[in-house]
Amino acid sequence: MTAETVQLAWVSWLEHHMGSEFQRDFPLGDRTTYRVGGRATGFLRLNGIEDLVRLHAALAELEERPRLLVLGRGSNLLVADRGFDGLVLSLGGSFESLNIDGSSVRVGASMALPVAARQIGAAGLSGFEWAVGVPGSFGGAVAMNAGGHGSDMAASLRSVTVVDLGGSTAVEEWPTARLDLSYRHSAITSEIVVLGGELELAGGDSEQIKGAMSDVVQWRRAHQPGGQNAGSVFVNPTDHPPAAFLIEEAGLRGYRLGSATVSPKHANFIQAEPDGRAQDVFDLIFYVRETVREAFGVELTTEIRMIGFEEGEVDRGQ
Ligand SMILES: Cc1cc2nc3c(=O)[nH]c(=O)nc-3n(C[C@H](O)[C@H](O)[C@H](O)COP(=O)(O)OP(=O)(O)OC[C@H]3O[C@@H](n4cnc5c(N)ncnc54)[C@H](O)[C@@H]3O)c2cc1C
Repeated sequence: MTAETVQLAWVSWLEHHMGSEFQRDFPLGDRTTYRVGGRATGFLRLNGIEDLVRLHAALAELEERPRLLVLGRGSNLLVADRGFDGLVLSLGGSFESLNIDGSSVRVGASMALPVAARQIGAAGLSGFEWAVGVPGSFGGAVAMNAGGHGSDMAASLRSVTVVDLGGSTAVEEWPTARLDLSYRHSAITSEIVVLGGELELAGGDSEQIKGAMSDVVQWRRAHQPGGQNAGSVFVNPTDHPPAAFLIEEAGLRGYRLGSATVSPKHANFIQAEPDGRAQDVFDLIFYVRETVREAFGVELTTEIRMIGFEEGEVDRGQ
């Protein structure tokens, strides 16, 4: 069988088994905050656990499984212009939920972090204020161990609910320790779908919490650019100054390559443009890395995830 017929086999197989929630040739780049990049071979919306069970069964019968990408709000992804040859999974429906019980909060994976932060704060619970400024989903924040303003997911996450599409269909409850969370890292692989999680927070005064969140929002407006970006491109290196400082000192603030620019407002952000090219963002990322390496001998590694680039290309970047 040729690569094309194998690909068509999984596409038609999932079309048949998953019905109208499956779409071919999906514009994936449009679903990222960079808003550049190409299409995915297949896209599937999962509205509840029963959809995951059906998908698991359908995938298990395939000889050649597609590559998987669980898509949150696309705020940490750069999709290649050629697109992604695989299956994109997006959680909706019952996964957009938030339930508060005393100091414990269960949050569904597709809940937007700023919405969750505001609801939690309004209930008089403190410790999640930082999340009001991160434009991701709860599931994406678990996978990335997102954080800011001196905190991160690891600080309040007690457990997560996951399904391993490469394993059994069982819905599993993992204690946070199993996630191996560290700075912008978790043990979540592309076959593991985070369905939700439980936070343990402290009691607080909802007016004070509201004030703290408004400080976070104002700080971000003052220090970070809007427009088409995915937040910080590089993780801050240990034992060195922050990435933004190094990039700025290397003289790259405002540096432009094709349709991509190092943000003049925050040098660790790279801006794309309407109708711009993912390749320009990608090339600029490597130009910045090389320049910082030559100037300071520091190896920057990317925080953003590259989707659909060749393995060799991505190895250069991770
Ligand atoms: C303006 C701006 C500011 C930002 N500021 C911050 C910041 O302060 N701190 C910070 O940490 N990040 C920041 N980010 C980056 C981004 O918002 C976070 O990494 C966020 O957690 C990504 O969530 P997402 O839902 O958008 O994930 P996506 O970008 O869709 O995906 C990111 C990764 O998570 C995986 N994933 C997503 N959902 C699931 C799921 N349900 N199950 C399993 N895997 C999943 C994806 O497969 C992918 O590997 C910023 C981004 C922007 C655009």
